[in-house]
Amino acid sequence: MPLKPQQQDLLKKLPGVDTMIERLSVSSDYQEVPRRVILQAIRLTIDGMRSAIIEDRLHIPDLDLLDGMIDERVGKEIKARMTLNLKRVINATGVVIHTNLGRSLLAEESLAHITDIASRYSNLELNLETGKRGLRYSAVESLLCDISGAESALVVNNNAAAVLLCLDTLACGKEVIVSRGELVEIGGSFRIPDVMEKSGGFLKEVGTTNRTHPQDYTRAITEKTGLLLKVHTSNYSIQGFTASVSLTDMVAIGREHAIPVMEDLGSGTFVDFSKYGLAKEPTVQESVAAGCDIVTFSGDKLLGGPQAGIIIGSKHLVDAIKKNPLTRALRIDKMTLAALESTLRLYLDEEKAISRIPTLRMLTMSKKQTNVLSDLIIKKIRELDDPRIEIQSLDLFSKAGGGSLPLLELPSTCVAIRMAGLSTHELEQRLRSGCPPLIARIENDLIILDPRTLQIDEPDLIRDALDFILRNLKP
Ligand SMILES: *Cc1c(COP(=O)(O)O)cnc(C)c1O
Repeated sequence: MPLKPQQQDLLKKLPGVDTMIERLSVSSDYQEVPRRVILQAIRLTIDGMRSAIIEDRLHIPDLDLLDGMIDERVGKEIKARMTLNLKRVINATGVVIHTNLGRSLLAEESLAHITDIASRYSNLELNLETGKRGLRYSAVESLLCDISGAESALVVNNNAAAVLLCLDTLACGKEVIVSRGELVEIGGSFRIPDVMEKSGGFLKEVGTTNRTHPQDYTRAITEKTGLLLKVHTSNYSIQGFTASVSLTDMVAIGREHAIPVMEDLGSGTFVDFSKYGLAKEPTVQESVAAGCDIVTFSGDKLLGGPQAGIIIGSKHLVDAIKKNPLTRALRIDKMTLAALESTLRLYLDEEKAISRIPTLRMLTMSKKQTNVLSDLIIKKIRELDDPRIEIQSLDLFSKAGGGSLPLLELPSTCVAIRMAGLSTHELEQRLRSGCPPLIARIENDLIILDPRTLQIDEPDLIRDALDFILRNLKP
């Protein structure tokens, strides 16, 4: 199709790359920006605008506005390239272990340890007493054994890797008996049947979705059986007419037939949450005490440490797992190791763990504490003194998240917001594209800010974010 005169005018007015570079190089805003970044931003913008003109998508009332429009777009492109993609966000969702928002926040102790270890040389694999090669995992292994009561321990990249490695070592070419009620899928495409297939084990499902009995396991055992596997159904719950076989009973069956029993605890906690008025979640210590041969769990769920997969259990089995060549491929780096060691150390004193580990602190935060915080947020927002904001406090619930304590609802006093001139969805989107982005949830057409997951400086940042949105709102 031939171009209309307006399109031809626009094309003629489109500046060349060299002209643009000259124009921008005098701007003080871009003195620190590498030339290639400026060049890329200019090329992308001009190409985009040229296509828009040719496809007749660009309409401006006055040709003289074109330069300003180009400068603005180039500015945006440059900014996007000059800021880090992975950045801090404000989690106002009340979901404590939020997988999309990075799961657990590390304790101050861990941050200090990471900085020290990552910025200096360390004894990562040096035994300082003998001067010979040391084992990188020895400190965390003894801490894990000490806290859990297990004989032996091993750490890999994440719990998915831990499960894969254990199955690959213990069940390759053999049958693994699992209850039908425990064939879980967790977010990010981890499914027990698929992991089993990769490991070379053969899944043998027993029982039904809602009920599995001890005799289901005993009947399924043959000379091909290599493992009895229990999977903690951490992200859902089957309620009603149900029956499952306890770990203790599975261990008894395993002993009788000389077959090891493994439990994938998923979240895995050292703290009995029922002591703090929360739902009972099986602890790692209980699984060890029940005689389970191998237990695996995550480092960054209820444990509140870095991403890691922890394997604990009988020495002869853990030794066999350590010898698997996959173990080397799944090893953790020194920063993770530093964070894990300092997190585990806090567990030597449970009170300290609760007060120092952010995940535990947020989970055990009382309703009263959330009340105080929501009052503070409301006070901060009222400082803006803007009639377009409507605020109220509401009694709602936070969640543990991360596939932990699926039914748990933590009573929390939240702040509900509406802004005149913006729909709730528009407000949510603007908060999310702020700097730093603020992630909130929507309930009953209100923006809900849950104070449980907010960090110390964030009530101020919430006020600033709303202030920024108000200032940019058309009157
Ligand atoms: C979360 C979870 C996993 C995977 O753990 P990652 O540390 O995320 O790899 C495996 N099994 C269960 C039951 C889980 O809940």
